[in-house]
Amino acid sequence: MIQDIGPRHLFNEYHEEKPSEGDTCFLFRDGQILAASGEENRMEYPRYRDFREEDRKKFHFVYLLRVDERKCFLAVGRNLPEEVQFTQPSGFSFFPVNIFRKAMPKYMAFAAVTAWHLNVWYRDNQFCGRCGKRMKPDHRERMMRCSCGNMVYPRISPAVIVAVTDGSRILLTKYAYGNYHHYALVAGFTEIGETLEQTVSREVMEEVGLKVKNIRYYKSQPWGLSGSLLAGFFCDLDGDGTITLQEEELKEAEWFEAADLTPQADGISLTREMMAKFRADHTGE
Ligand SMILES: [Zn+2]
Repeated sequence: MIQDIGPRHLFNEYHEEKPSEGDTCFLFRDGQILAASGEENRMEYPRYRDFREEDRKKFHFVYLLRVDERKCFLAVGRNLPEEVQFTQPSGFSFFPVNIFRKAMPKYMAFAAVTAWHLNVWYRDNQFCGRCGKRMKPDHRERMMRCSCGNMVYPRISPAVIVAVTDGSRILLTKYAYGNYHHYALVAGFTEIGETLEQTVSREVMEEVGLKVKNIRYYKSQPWGLSGSLLAGFFCDLDGDGTITLQEEELKEAEWFEAADLTPQADGISLTREMMAKFRADHTGE
């Protein structure tokens, strides 16, 4: 999965720090990231030294994280929400953040997708939701603080990925909207007041009209593109397997035999890993 970057490690502890010349600086704009593309999906991200002196003054460089010793910062325009005019470092241009699904090296793609998640949180918490004043970053932890006493921590939305199985069959779906067009599993966000297991039952019922039992937790995955923490579950069909499609959300939902799945763990997504595991468990391949 995207977070599996061993032997490297992503350290997300917050502290205040200024960038040095060689530090990576992620810069996002309208769902895009400033990067340079090389061969075989290799992406480079700008370093602090790539920004011209006069342009550096137009941004706050917020410390985000490090992968081993490589420190990563977020370049935030000083005059939000207006767009900052600056000279793009030579060789760099903006790419949709979806490139993280394929970008190499994977440890930097994981750093960048984590940076995107934090970027969205910083972007959306400039002003206090309680009193409307401008928020300030806390000095000791990653938190935005307001003079009215409001404290806002990074938001992570729990969600489930569900493999509904019936013997050697598994239920696959295709979303009606969005830019992910491959077969996927049932998925959805946890509602307030709900356990993860209840989310599983509710989402399966809503999306395909099926009852499930024997819900088993598999693994979890941070998924910064949607600001979520995904929890993967396997479960068994309970009763009739006739699908009633929720057409607002899904374009397609079908039972597939394990042997008919193409092996497709991509080393990135929990969904793919779960599909590949199901196939392997039932075909021995
Ligand atoms: Zn406030």
